[in-house]
Amino acid sequence: MEQSSQTTDKESVKCLIIGSGPAGYTAAIYASRANLNPVLYEGMQTGGQLTTTNEVENFPGYPNGVSGTDMMDDIRNQALKFGADIREGNVTSVELSDTKKMVVVDGKKTIEAQVVIIATGASARYLGLESERKFRGMGVSACAVCDGFFYRKQQVAVIGGGDTAVGDALYLAGIASKVYLIVRKNYLRASKVLQERVAATPNIEILFEHVTKEVLGDDSGVTGLRLMKQEKEEVEISVTGMFLAIGHKPNTELFKGQINLDENGYILTEGKGTQTNIQGVFACGDVQDPTYRQAITAAASGCKAALDAERYFQTR
Ligand code: NDP
Repeated sequence: MEQSSQTTDKESVKCLIIGSGPAGYTAAIYASRANLNPVLYEGMQTGGQLTTTNEVENFPGYPNGVSGTDMMDDIRNQALKFGADIREGNVTSVELSDTKKMVVVDGKKTIEAQVVIIATGASARYLGLESERKFRGMGVSACAVCDGFFYRKQQVAVIGGGDTAVGDALYLAGIASKVYLIVRKNYLRASKVLQERVAATPNIEILFEHVTKEVLGDDSGVTGLRLMKQEKEEVEISVTGMFLAIGHKPNTELFKGQINLDENGYILTEGKGTQTNIQGVFACGDVQDPTYRQAITAAASGCKAALDAERYFQTR
């Protein structure tokens, strides 16, 4: 059954999965096959972050590449095939303890679950400019590895000064003709070794103390950036791509105060598994992974969460 009629306001389920990226859908495949009868709520962004990328070329099994949306459809359909109950709906509050797990969907439907698998992912941070929103997917990207390929021999900009930004700049330097690294402070936060590599890469130019004020563009997409230099001088650079690398934010607002989080808000899990501080609550994918953040690693941890859930039932 794909869409439940959801006529009742209360329901009890064995296994509830929150989130619909590669982690959530993969957890649904494994949980279905283990007869945990999973119910999965897809959340605001069906399919998760990958649906905002153009082409995925590094997920095993797709030698010719695949669009992020098509890949999520494939994994979703695989979960449906094994009987996962996948529903539209956004979890709006949770009450989680070792003995009771209550979840509210869309502010009105209450679900009591025996186990909960959290796969709510992370969201890239954006600057918050109106022009940035306008050109998202038309030159504005938060994933250099996903979209860099489209800027072969073009000029691009990376925003940020941390390891991600510097790593992205180095990656893009191998594709684009020139990479501007736009850093708001007068120093890089990135590790020394990456800084040295940037310094040794001739087609990366670092613009320190520059803040992006506006993304410029037309019907073809991004054409440039208007920057403020040292808070006093406006400059424009000509680029066709702007890559945000100003950090990610795990989607854990719902769980604050109940699930243990690290200092950056990522869910803490025990050892190599997916168990959180609450018995019967597991976390997988980017919501608990500040390091790898790949579709394949998210899918793998979704598998682990479902296996951990299965073992939880076996040992109760
Ligand atoms: P970080 O938080 O380390 O860096 C974010 C960068 O973005 C900083 O330079 C910050 O500037 C800048 N920034 C934040 N907000 C804005 C804004 N509004 N406008 C302009 N610039 C902004 O995030 P990362 O994603 O780079 O790294 C996260 C963690 O992951 C780190 O611990 C990092 O070490 C790790 N990591 C490790 C890698 C590796 O080892 N290869 C690869 C990638 C990440 P400011 O300095 O002024 O605050």
